[in-house]
Amino acid sequence: MDTVLKEKINLGISACMYGCKVRYNKKGWNMSELFGRDQTSFIWHPVCPESLSGMGIPRSPIRVIGESGRAVLEGNAKIKNREGKDVTDMLIKGCNASIEALERANVFAFVYMEGSPSCGVYRTTLKNNRMGKPPGVFGAMLLDRDFFLIPANDLQSPVRRWDWKRRLYAFAWAKEVDINSKDDLFQFWHIVKFLCQEIDEKTAREIGKRLAELPKGFDKESAETLRHEVMMILRQPSSLEKIKNRLWKHYMYFKRKTGVELENVMEPTDMRNMNHIADELMLMEKTSFSTEVLFGAAPILYRGR
Ligand code: SF4
Repeated sequence: MDTVLKEKINLGISACMYGCKVRYNKKGWNMSELFGRDQTSFIWHPVCPESLSGMGIPRSPIRVIGESGRAVLEGNAKIKNREGKDVTDMLIKGCNASIEALERANVFAFVYMEGSPSCGVYRTTLKNNRMGKPPGVFGAMLLDRDFFLIPANDLQSPVRRWDWKRRLYAFAWAKEVDINSKDDLFQFWHIVKFLCQEIDEKTAREIGKRLAELPKGFDKESAETLRHEVMMILRQPSSLEKIKNRLWKHYMYFKRKTGVELENVMEPTDMRNMNHIADELMLMEKTSFSTEVLFGAAPILYRGR
């Protein structure tokens, strides 16, 4: 199985996080720049549900009146602006227009602005001690469609950015790769299992057990269920501790296998800053690829055509 992505990933993003000044107060930030050279691995699709709703820029800020953005979609809550005007219909139309544009472009991953009553997923307000009524209206649509969701703020940390990128590549690969035989299925699992074990050891163990007990023959339906389970695991972030431990474990294995020493890679307990850890991860990724040793923590790479 080829573990190199050659097609660019279509990546959706809240337009205000792509440098467009579309927030209610005419503000916007460019978070996509934080990907550095990796920006070119993606075709970017900025959308702004509130602008597409026809509310304009600048506009009066809006909030959820009721339980959550999902309740708004179900007709059980409202969206009102600061003056108390009901803009529920307008916002739903803007969200529908945004989701249609993303689906037309085959977008399955989205960088969202957390803390917005529209794009927010776990918070719908930016105020520190209030979580709002999550998810936001557009956030609920993205969740309901199983999008691979990336909080824009996480892109500021080089290690989190690396974590999102390697899982997104693996997710894109897992979504498309052909699984037409039992051999394909075992190979598929062999490629993603180390990453799945790092993120969710319990579920990964259950999958491994089920695979070992498979009856004779190939059942396409169970293979597709397994593909879906893997994709759901890959949507979850890992932690710094797990990332450092896996890096060291792989480095020990790599050194034994190739005899190559990499001075930059440090033990999990060694003190160093986030930029250094991200550099170690990228070095390990690059060296493993050039020596053809599978780096289980980042099994899929993008190399373009
Ligand atoms: S958070 Fe979403 S709706 Fe709000 S300005 Fe940004 S893109 Fe537009």
